[in-house]
Amino acid sequence: MHVGNLSKLASNFLQLVFAPRCLVCGAKTPDLICNKCIDSLNCSFNRCKICSRPLASSEAVCPVCLSEKRFFVKGFSLFNYKDEKVAKIIELIKFKGHYRLVDFLYYFKDNIIQSGIFENVDCLVAVPMHKKDIAERGFNQSVFIAKVLSNITQIKVDYSLIEKVKRTKHQVGLSAKERKSNLKGAFRLTKKSPYHKVVVVDDVFTTGSTINEIAKLFLSHRIKSNFFCVSSTPHLY
Ligand SMILES: [Zn+2]
Ligand SMILES: [Zn+2]
Repeated sequence: MHVGNLSKLASNFLQLVFAPRCLVCGAKTPDLICNKCIDSLNCSFNRCKICSRPLASSEAVCPVCLSEKRFFVKGFSLFNYKDEKVAKIIELIKFKGHYRLVDFLYYFKDNIIQSGIFENVDCLVAVPMHKKDIAERGFNQSVFIAKVLSNITQIKVDYSLIEKVKRTKHQVGLSAKERKSNLKGAFRLTKKSPYHKVVVVDDVFTTGSTINEIAKLFLSHRIKSNFFCVSSTPHLY
């Protein structure tokens, strides 16, 4: 066989085996996630007016916001975590090391800006992880999300305003009282804040206790806060 044909054959073979594929559905695409997957993501659903949790269309406020004190002003979650593709994207980012996938948020730039939660905000703050947890995972996904939001909104991120000083248990499955004591003293401000209003950034809104605790801390320093999450569970676990 002619050497040129051979190398063509080899390149076809390599193309077949190593052609870039969508991380979510496996379809061939030069991007990390294909257009079909992006187009299938739905960010228009009925949300709790306060915390943005997906709700049945007849409800205005979720049961948690009705019964527990919320220290943040307003939240916005872009997607419903119940959407399998959304859960898969979060899993890839958080547990499979594909943190560059956070760039998919640029496709939803308009929805993010129109949420209104970035108006009159001084800075963005990623929900911090304990340094031992960062060492285990290698990164804090919320920092990458905050960076993308900063590029979209032109609001800066303050990476050191708040730190997590206590390792906490997973909130899921704990009672409201247990969640409170689990988070007590978990976060602290590292400096006197020059900000009036911030947006706290995280990947998934589940019980909302972490964000509420951070909002409480900020409020005790006269800082108002909104929050942004990539997704929210439709109900409290
Ligand atoms: Zn895909
Ligand atoms: Zn709510």
